[in-house]
Amino acid sequence: MNATDDIVYLKGVGPARAKVLATELHIHTAADLLLHFPFRHIDLSQSATIATLTAETNYVLLRGTVSNLQTVSMGKFRERLTADFTDGTGLIQLVWFAGTRWVRERLRPNTPFLIMGKPTLFNGQWQMTHPELEPATADATPMKFLPVYSTTERMKQAGLGTRNLARLTEHLVGSITGIEENLPADIIAKYQLLPRIDALRAIHYPDSLAQLDAARQRLKFEELFFFQLDYQYARIDRHMRSQGRIFATVGPLFNRFYREKIPFPLTDAQKRVIREVRNDMRTGHQMNRLLQGDVGSGKTLVALMCMLLSLDGGCQACLMAPTEILATQHYHTFLRLLEGLGIQVELLIGSLKPADKRKIKQHIASGQTHIIVGTHALIEDSVSFANLGLVVIDEQHRFGVQQRARLWAKSSPPPHILVMTATPIPRTLAMTLYGDLDCSIIDELPPGRSPVRTFHRTEPRRPLVFSFLKKQIDAGRQAYIVYPLIHESEKLDIKDLEDGLEMVQSYFPRPQYQVSMMHGQLTAEEKAFEMERFKQGKTHIMVATTVIEVGVDVPNATVMVIENAERFGLSQLHQLRGRVGRGGEQSYCILMTKDNLANTSRQRIDTMCATTDGFKIAEADLRLRGPGDIQGLQQSGLLELKLASIVDDEPMVATTRTEVQELLLSDPTLQLHPHLKQYILRSKNNMLWGKIS
Ligand code: ADP
Ligand code: MG
Repeated sequence: MNATDDIVYLKGVGPARAKVLATELHIHTAADLLLHFPFRHIDLSQSATIATLTAETNYVLLRGTVSNLQTVSMGKFRERLTADFTDGTGLIQLVWFAGTRWVRERLRPNTPFLIMGKPTLFNGQWQMTHPELEPATADATPMKFLPVYSTTERMKQAGLGTRNLARLTEHLVGSITGIEENLPADIIAKYQLLPRIDALRAIHYPDSLAQLDAARQRLKFEELFFFQLDYQYARIDRHMRSQGRIFATVGPLFNRFYREKIPFPLTDAQKRVIREVRNDMRTGHQMNRLLQGDVGSGKTLVALMCMLLSLDGGCQACLMAPTEILATQHYHTFLRLLEGLGIQVELLIGSLKPADKRKIKQHIASGQTHIIVGTHALIEDSVSFANLGLVVIDEQHRFGVQQRARLWAKSSPPPHILVMTATPIPRTLAMTLYGDLDCSIIDELPPGRSPVRTFHRTEPRRPLVFSFLKKQIDAGRQAYIVYPLIHESEKLDIKDLEDGLEMVQSYFPRPQYQVSMMHGQLTAEEKAFEMERFKQGKTHIMVATTVIEVGVDVPNATVMVIENAERFGLSQLHQLRGRVGRGGEQSYCILMTKDNLANTSRQRIDTMCATTDGFKIAEADLRLRGPGDIQGLQQSGLLELKLASIVDDEPMVATTRTEVQELLLSDPTLQLHPHLKQYILRSKNNMLWGKIS
């Protein structure tokens, strides 16, 4: 049978089952079935009996007889069917909650059956829920490992349980033709990978565990290789096709700023990133760059200088931030740093008065405004730019893909794009995930910073925590105290914050101490007012919700107290901690929690106390939460990999990335590798980032 043949022609399938295979598992061809891998094997050399079962036993195949069928009604349409199964060495109870009628029709007491499933111990009694069963026939299987496939209830009823699927694959593995090798020969040799057809056979019917492992390795490699190829090819393709504005030379604004205005010498990492951006901008390609840099690494200044490159090229530039507080802060920073250069900077946020908004939009449309800072308000349809040369997205992980994409569309040719993020995901993963973006990294903090010292404290030690805070404030420093709010918009939650404020004020009485409150329900003016007072040192403590989580920059603040810290995720804790340690003074982060912490909460807190490295924290986060919760991953297709795991197979992720990089470097259009090109053009994975720009 040929790989591309319709599965209906495989012996034992036929039209009815073919239909079930198509609807349940998207299996249409012979090759599709071969690519439906077993998730486990039963080692038939270790023949199991009920007496040999242990708590560690996974899937087993048992041979014996059933007796004592009983049906218990569980409500109107539901029933539970049980039966005793014995093989002479012991007894195991079989249980069904669904499809009971179908099972009852097939169970013949006191005739030999094979059952297959995972045994569990329940009140000292072995049970197996929804086992697969079949009459035991005399034919002994010659194979050493029996593959176990995932199936659905519908499949079982169509006679496509795992045993029957195994019969189909057994037949197929022996007869299939037309499976072609899809990896380049040099790569197969270099990594000593099994040939494709051998791997596909062995993953179903291995001779040994070592062979099974080799088959899995080969197929994982293939999976990751093509994932990378998809992404990276799309990037190159875009580079070659997309026309970007050309900013040929560094102009007077950038130079004057660099000579006269720059508040401190750039770190080497900052310089490198600006150079990378500058190189992109003069090529004629449209830049699509991700800037990763830990909290406090100085991304804002880099963004500003890149914006000046755009202005020097005769274009506007805009920066979008996820919160009004952050947008407002950037706006003021830019106003301050650009003073005297004759650059028009404006702020566009949702809470402006309609008349002001209208005026600013006019300025943006006419080109009168050079630099526009704003929030989501920037992507409204009513905003149009005269000539937008660069878009910077700050804290990009806070925006949805669509939101970002709407900014790209606001100018033609499309603007250059710089998205900035403080490492919400591990580096190698980011490079994979954003494989379609070019990646710049600021891996160095400005000089004179010492790492924030982090402590875990519980309620009984609050007085000590607050007296420490007092000492810091008396020495001229400032502090944040952050409360978790589940829904920033809910009135009820604000109550917690108000209680917190009252408690804090009882320790820090007026007028000696000024305590302010910051949360999402304040108006933009109130927020700006409170931020400004804090910035100027007029308030000593800011009691806040997570509205200050990202971006806020007040270098004189040296203490971050996080209340109910167990309720925050790791990346949130890291972001919050990043609000301190931004100046020369030693800074502190104190994680307040209740006494008895759940295991993962404790691990989060311990991780925070152990490291300030954003990459390490991102890795711990990935390990603790699992990849499913990482933002951006769902959309990436990475979670849909069949065999490879982006967490456990990280080294292979990195290897395949490098290999694909090198391959595309020498053959960017894949003209020397026509079969690879064909392969990815066919694949449905061709997605996401390529479409954004
Ligand atoms: P983030 O990368 O988290 O956005 P910011 O851009 O807010 O960081 O910068 C953090 C702090 O470091 C700010 O107070 C900023 O003024 C300061 N900073 C940035 N670059 C430098 C530098 N090269 N030397 C000293 N301080 C710097
Ligand atoms: Mg920032």
